[in-house]
Amino acid sequence: MLILAIVSLSGGQGKTTCALFLGKRLAKEGWPTLVVDADPQHNLTTYLEAKVDQQPTLLEFLKKAVELSEAIYPVDAKDNLYIIPSDDALDAANEYLASSGAAAILLKRRLEVLKDTFKVCIIDAPPQRSQICLSIVGAADYLLIPAEATVKGYGSLVRSIDLWKSMRDELKVSEAELLGVLPFRDRWIGLTQSKESQLSVTAMGEEVGQKFILPSIRESERYKQAINQGKLLSEMGFGDLEYPFDVLVDLIKALIN
Ligand code: ATP
Ligand code: MG
Repeated sequence: MLILAIVSLSGGQGKTTCALFLGKRLAKEGWPTLVVDADPQHNLTTYLEAKVDQQPTLLEFLKKAVELSEAIYPVDAKDNLYIIPSDDALDAANEYLASSGAAAILLKRRLEVLKDTFKVCIIDAPPQRSQICLSIVGAADYLLIPAEATVKGYGSLVRSIDLWKSMRDELKVSEAELLGVLPFRDRWIGLTQSKESQLSVTAMGEEVGQKFILPSIRESERYKQAINQGKLLSEMGFGDLEYPFDVLVDLIKALIN
């Protein structure tokens, strides 16, 4: 099971949007796909309209308080998409992880039992540099960092890279590699990219190396419509807007085959 964490240390950087569309696309490839909503804001759980009546959530999964099968819900029984959901109470996971003294390895250990059940696991991280976030980076094989094509997005990328490098190179509690940086809400007017988008995407390339910059997600109301209608952009006739996910699916395919 390939564990891909979607991390970016500011709000509104496109983490949940990426987790949602990538999870659906990977499941559509026929791969058993697990998405983990690791954000107490639980937007991913809401978007996927998972039939999560109540507990258990990721919190109980982390605490090993339930049977594994009780914390994993099928999003849609006929496809390959499953979720470990979240709710407001997940905030308590930060205290639990802190007191365990092993935040960086705990989620990794818990996910190990699923390694033969799923082909890919996508984790949607919260925006704070919290214990949950450390646990996610510790569990990941690869990191995908979405970052808004703005000055704020560039700052979010820099902080995320700092966290990853300190965990991997200094503390040696993460083996994650960088899959790529996904510029989010890249603004174009006709054939012209806005100055702020252009400057921030260029700065992102200088920060991580141009080869890690993925094709960007364009600023578009269509994305919000697709999220609200629970559909893929391609299912709404806007397959061209889904191109960044075509590229991501190909990258992941190459990693797991
Ligand atoms: P948080 O850290 O708060 O969880 P996030 O990083 O998960 O935020 P998202 O929730 O994915 O960010 O996206 C932020 C907002 O951008 C959402 O309201 C979403 O509907 C909207 N959005 C998604 N795609 C696009 C797009 N292509 N253009 C404009 N807005 C978009
Ligand atoms: Mg989110």
